[in-house]
Amino acid sequence: MRHSKTVVAVAVLAGLMAAGSVGAYAATQNTASNQGSAEGFTADRSTALAQQIKSSKPRNVILIIGDGMDDSMITAARNYELGAGGRFAGLDSLPFTGSMTTYGLKVGTGPDYPIAYVSDSAPTASGWSTGKKTVDGRISQGPSTAADVPGEDYETVLEKFKAGGKLVGNITTSELTDATPAAAASHINARACQGPQDLAACTSARKSAGGKGSIAEQLVDNEVDVLMGGGLNRYSQATDAGPTVLDYAQREHGYRVLDDKTDLAGVTSLKKGPVLGLFAPGNMTPMYQPLVATAPPGTGGATTTCQEADRGSQPDLSTMTAKAIALLDNRKGFFLQAESAMIDKQEHGSDICGAIGDLRELDEAVQVVLAFQKKNPDTLIIVTGDHAHSTQIVGGVTDGKQVATLQTADGDPMTVAYSTSDVGSDHTGAQIRVAASGPQGANVTGVIDQTDLFRTMLGRSPSGTPGPRD
Ligand SMILES: [Mg+2]
Ligand SMILES: [Zn+2]
Repeated sequence: MRHSKTVVAVAVLAGLMAAGSVGAYAATQNTASNQGSAEGFTADRSTALAQQIKSSKPRNVILIIGDGMDDSMITAARNYELGAGGRFAGLDSLPFTGSMTTYGLKVGTGPDYPIAYVSDSAPTASGWSTGKKTVDGRISQGPSTAADVPGEDYETVLEKFKAGGKLVGNITTSELTDATPAAAASHINARACQGPQDLAACTSARKSAGGKGSIAEQLVDNEVDVLMGGGLNRYSQATDAGPTVLDYAQREHGYRVLDDKTDLAGVTSLKKGPVLGLFAPGNMTPMYQPLVATAPPGTGGATTTCQEADRGSQPDLSTMTAKAIALLDNRKGFFLQAESAMIDKQEHGSDICGAIGDLRELDEAVQVVLAFQKKNPDTLIIVTGDHAHSTQIVGGVTDGKQVATLQTADGDPMTVAYSTSDVGSDHTGAQIRVAASGPQGANVTGVIDQTDLFRTMLGRSPSGTPGPRD
């Protein structure tokens, strides 16, 4: 591995620290093996890149998702945190980068379903989880004639790895039952069916009707070894049989429930059973307080910076990621999906600071997994988003329906706009960045589709070492 790092201080940010913002965020100048730096490349990278191409099947697979994290959002966050010439120490340092299409399908009679050029987080997560396209709102099930008509259940990467004897983890900063973590280990026709009291759109999924139950129930029935996120309110709902999902998870599956970062710090192994961390009633709190764009001339200005939010006893994503890896690491290997979920949710609210903070939090989680990979080079790391979103970097405060201006690490003003709606913002349909490091990581280069990640994570053939069963 070639990750010799030179941490460079970002002098401009010292001023922001004094102003009470979160403060300087460390950038990394990368060696020739990586993506580059503000100074550009000093040598030809061909040999260094060639040495990182490995065709073996990975022992461990770590998939890090930024919900709604597209190139525009990455650039806006980088400009703010590190300046236009900065590079994120994790996110921007992976050796292999490609572009990924994220389209989905629309309901219909099939087998040729109409294309959905803009997707939500359910079919996109189902795409990499199952290797197949599906329709909006659907969780690891195939397309069908209508939203309330279940499709065929598709086995997920997480389920395949578990069946192959690996430990598995699924963590997020949204509700644990939200679409992205749901698609890793549950199957249901509508993403809204998160708890046993939320099944109006999924009546055949009721356990009392012979179904697999809500997303909350399925995640614990799948005995995912590490589950962490928000969403306590879903697990507090009563099941058809009477007790809450939380009681059911503890009694039937031996889950140990973690409430806060103190609980999280106290758990050191999975020997006493799987863990279910539920750190917020709903979604977890983003790193930064909101700065919501408004109609021109908009909010913020040339000296506006983002302010840290009070997250109380909630752990952050990199702490959850480090703990998940420590719990899951074992001789046979593991699969971990870790999601920075609130990038998307804050973008929906046209909240530039909230989205920037959670993208930075994703970068910190990537740094954690890269440090693990250094000692465990048979680990595949993939970092990507699930769909594009609405944040645009624009030239001035009249260039969008809703705008906000921030002072970046360069000391200069950056204006962002949201133009999909007059209030709030929506997904868009552009291809997004995918990056990887480790065995099979070169398979993300060029232009790929989201569903291609499924085979890459399982380990494409030919390969020199045994992997999980397909
Ligand atoms: Mg999500
Ligand atoms: Zn969204």
